[in-house]
Amino acid sequence: MKIGIAGAGLAGRLCAFYLSHKGYEVTVFDKASHPTDPVAAGFTAAGMLSHIAELESGDENIYNYGVRSLSLWKEIVPKLSEPVELHYKGSLMLAHRGDEGAAARLISLLQAKAPADQQPTKLSLEQLREQEPSISGPAHAWALQNEGHIHTRQAMYALYTSCQHTHWHWQTHVKKLTPHTIHTETETHSFDWVIDTRGLGARELKFANAHTLSCQNVRGVRGEVIWLQSPNLNLQRPIRLLHPRYRVYLVPRKPDILFIGASEIESEDRSPISVRTTVELLTAAHSVLPELAEARIIHTETNLRPALIDNFPRIEQEEGLIRINGLFRHGWLIAPAVVEDALKLFN
Ligand SMILES: Cc1cc2nc3c(=O)[nH]c(=O)nc-3n(C[C@H](O)[C@H](O)[C@H](O)COP(=O)(O)OP(=O)(O)OC[C@H]3O[C@@H](n4cnc5c(N)ncnc54)[C@H](O)[C@@H]3O)c2cc1C
Repeated sequence: MKIGIAGAGLAGRLCAFYLSHKGYEVTVFDKASHPTDPVAAGFTAAGMLSHIAELESGDENIYNYGVRSLSLWKEIVPKLSEPVELHYKGSLMLAHRGDEGAAARLISLLQAKAPADQQPTKLSLEQLREQEPSISGPAHAWALQNEGHIHTRQAMYALYTSCQHTHWHWQTHVKKLTPHTIHTETETHSFDWVIDTRGLGARELKFANAHTLSCQNVRGVRGEVIWLQSPNLNLQRPIRLLHPRYRVYLVPRKPDILFIGASEIESEDRSPISVRTTVELLTAAHSVLPELAEARIIHTETNLRPALIDNFPRIEQEEGLIRINGLFRHGWLIAPAVVEDALKLFN
């Protein structure tokens, strides 16, 4: 069976990985110039696998997809042909004195939504110091025991190199997509099934909204991130700073990189990071990790999350065509399970 995939972002690569391992002949088209050209949102993402923290804005579906995907990543990563950092050391939520109101509201929301065995655990400052000696400053801390994080750039590359029987067409803009057919600028390709994982590239389409029965286009939500290099910092797990105005998270990457993210702005502007976001992210990071004063800013990046109006993902299917879109800020958290559901008919 021949499968054509439009879009080699996270969803497209996972589809190619699953299907090629089942022995299908897979062809992938992407407008990016090469496999590591960071056009797709997946390259920019922090890779937080935060099924509990995301209950703040997510619903039961996001949570359940997240829990299933945590197990799926544990199966996928060992099968990849390149090493990928995947950690399940939990994550921490921190709040400064004075920000108790915002923190208390969020923690009680998570307590109400999370099952009994996934509840946030309050840590004393001593317990916090034992877990993460470099953190200093916050007055309150909670542990989210079962959360994880994945090295997104390593995983994007490893998914690409680990697909068997797969033909990759880079620098190839998909102009039109119909059941069984992908039209590029110069050619028309026929397949038994076509999968549309173009994210924002599918903006001409209307996706059904199950709640309002209306239809909606995909939109981009701007996210800006900063990479710091700090050789002496020994952070073991991701941390989130609960702040009344904005959320900031910090994710360690080996050997000495700290990833700080991310803004969430209703805009499709992909221009470089703003001064405002830079100041907010760095101030927040420095307020819990004073050692960062001597860290070096080595990289900044901006990208767009593909989102539908309710910020929930969609799988749509008709004979010869599957569409997966709307992964928004949850792609790494939920994509393995979303893709598994979308591809059920190939089982
Ligand atoms: C700053 C930031 C931080 C994030 N942090 C996290 C996180 O910590 N945890 C988490 O779970 N998620 C996170 N995400 C979200 C996650 O990255 C996305 O949900 C996910 O990457 C979306 O994947 P996708 O494959 O659906 O879409 P995309 O990544 O947008 O991929 C679409 C692909 O289609 C290609 N394409 C588009 N149009 C065409 C066309 N016409 N022809 C050919 N190719 C085309 C594009 O080049 C691209 O490669 C973050 C995102 C951002 C931006």
